[in-house]
Amino acid sequence: MNLPNRVKVFAWRVCKNGLLTLQNLRNRKVLEETKCQWCNEEEEDISHALVYCPFIKDYWYNHFSFLKETDVRMDFVQIALTVLSRGNIREIEKLFLMAWDMWYRRNQKLYEDNVLSPEQVVDHALSLHQEHKTNAEEQKKGMKACCCWLPPPTGVLKLNIDEALFHDQYRLGVGMVLRDEHEKVIFSASKPGHEV
Ligand SMILES: [Zn+2]
Repeated sequence: MNLPNRVKVFAWRVCKNGLLTLQNLRNRKVLEETKCQWCNEEEEDISHALVYCPFIKDYWYNHFSFLKETDVRMDFVQIALTVLSRGNIREIEKLFLMAWDMWYRRNQKLYEDNVLSPEQVVDHALSLHQEHKTNAEEQKKGMKACCCWLPPPTGVLKLNIDEALFHDQYRLGVGMVLRDEHEKVIFSASKPGHEV
């Protein structure tokens, strides 16, 4: 996944049930009250906190419609595996970015008394996602550019040698081109090679 490291660490913690949700804090005997602070209806476990709380689930349904179509509530690892099985790596990145921002929103309310709207955090997650997609595409283009022929530095000649296999004649051929820094061909030659 092409994600910021802090989001990768978050994803790993989600998959290991390592987030300090109210349910996990109760299991560690840190507190007794486990009702979600937003809806005050259900126990706050990972999938409720990140996806199924009534205050946020519609945002998920808009972006991952299979969640709406599935009657059974899935745990977050199942959701991630379903997205992964559809084979689009960008979607799994979007999933974790949205979850990470939802967790940030939850912590802001719980620990900072700062209420962010779900729209705000989803917009933030999507703009981060777009930024990462653009960076990944630019990196790809950059790699492609490096694969093109580049002229040598001033005062240096570059010799490229390549060989080709002529299947119909069962022969190898070798060619070479010598060029300067202005891409001017100084010398070129080709030679039929051995029978293969
Ligand atoms: Zn809730």
